[in-house]
Amino acid sequence: MRVGVLAVQGAFAEMEAYWRARGAEVFEIRQTSDLGRGMDMLALPGGESTVQGKLLNDLGLFAPLKESVAGGLGVFATCAGLILLAERIDDPGGSAATRPEQWFGVLPVAVRRNAYGRQLGSFTTRGEFDGRHDVEMTFIRAPAITDVLSPEVETLSTFDGRPTSVRWRGITAFTWHPELNMHGPGVV
Ligand code: GLN
Repeated sequence: MRVGVLAVQGAFAEMEAYWRARGAEVFEIRQTSDLGRGMDMLALPGGESTVQGKLLNDLGLFAPLKESVAGGLGVFATCAGLILLAERIDDPGGSAATRPEQWFGVLPVAVRRNAYGRQLGSFTTRGEFDGRHDVEMTFIRAPAITDVLSPEVETLSTFDGRPTSVRWRGITAFTWHPELNMHGPGVV
């Protein structure tokens, strides 16, 4: 499997290691010419979603990637990547609809950024993921999924009564960081 990892900002090195450890052929997406290499899956790393969105736009990557994602390209997204995909942003003043150049807006969930607080918002817990028990889950200034906007969205894990990872069509998206716990039970 060929995985293109968005490598403009954030924890892309960890994402690359995660996929290499699973036997994937990995390449970095930094500019539009990288898209010509062809991929089976797009991996969107954690980081800062507003910065990533702006860079995607500045680099001319946003429109072609949005077209691919909307067209059904498989996506594996963590944290900031989930925020980029979400149909609705629940921040005050934030909305994928009002900033269409920064958010793909395809995944039918609503998210609130930094939902667990900015400074103390990082923690680890263990729980069930997609039928697997005792999976380690690291949250780093994580968003919360505040609403699921389609019955087609499958919830794979929860914390505090809210979904923390979801699957919808070819997209698997996490509010936590599976790529940081690769020494624990593999999650995909
Ligand atoms: N708080 C970040 C954001 O809003 C996401 C944090 C992360 O990716 N670990 O984009």
